[in-house]
This record gives sequence, structure tokens and C-alpha cells, in this order.
Amino acid sequence: MASTDPNSRVEITEGAVGKLIVAVGDFPAGTTMTESVCSAAEVLSAPTMYTVQVAPGKHVDVKTPLMYTAHSCAPSGKIVVSEQATGGWTVQVESTRDLSKGEWVTFDYNSTEWDMQSPFDCACGAPSCRKSIKGAKYLSKEDAAALLPSCSGVIAVKLRETTLSSQ
Ligand SMILES: [Zn+2]
Repeated sequence: MASTDPNSRVEITEGAVGKLIVAVGDFPAGTTMTESVCSAAEVLSAPTMYTVQVAPGKHVDVKTPLMYTAHSCAPSGKIVVSEQATGGWTVQVESTRDLSKGEWVTFDYNSTEWDMQSPFDCACGAPSCRKSIKGAKYLSKEDAAALLPSCSGVIAVKLRETTLSSQ
């Protein structure tokens, strides 16, 4: 029987721009490809390079292999966060299209960060590449609308209150 641990579905590999994760087999859209669980005590009030924002003023350090999920402007996955009864958080990357063995598992970093601690120039190669990745705050209205369904709750709320409510 196949392992039910989502982290068995990916492996870390060394790419041109550093470590990233790839699918170890073929998986349909909607598969949890990797997950990172953190306790209430591990929730941080400020972001770092390896945190995902899960709620206003709450950031969690994601662990390996999820921490090596690469950014793409045309990603193969999205982040799904859920709070546990204990106050801890589960952060998952769910595939948003069918993945083949060896394909990069990616998500759009703008979907989880409002104003990035470590902005970077993107070279993902997608036709829709936005080149400069700084956080959801800097998205055009068109890009914000396109990304909205993949955004974590806190980012979706902020986009609706700002970029998407402007004329
Ligand atoms: Zn890009």
C-alpha cells in the first residue's frame, strides 16, 4: 500500500537556482503534495524568508520539504492553510493541475505574502511571468483577480479590501 504521508509524494532536488521539490510520480490535480505542521508555540508575529503567513500577524516557519517549494508565476500548486484545535497550523501544497513524475511542485509566493521580506527577480520562464516578485500588495488589479482563488485567506481579504475594490 502506498504511503499516505504527503511528504512521500515529493523529493528535494538541486536546480539551477537552488533546492526545489519535484513529484516522485504522477498525481492528479487536487493532491496534497507536501505538508508542514507547526505547533502554536512555533507561530511567529513577523515574517522571515521561510515563513508563510497564515492569519493577520501570524507567520509559520515551514519545514522541509515544503520550505523548498519553488515560486512560479504559472504554478503547479497552491498553498492551503488550516488551523488546528491546538492553535497550531498545517500548511499544505496542493496540486492545481495533473503532475507527472519529475515535474516541479510550485506555488505563487504572492498568494501567501502581502509585502515580502525578501523580494526577488523571477526567472520562471512562464509567458505570464511578473519578473519582480514583491508580494500581493504590488499586484495589478488584473493579476490580483487571477490569483485570488489560490490566495491564502489573509491575502484574499487584503486584496478584496484594497486592489480589487479600487476603480
Ligand atoms: Zn515568474
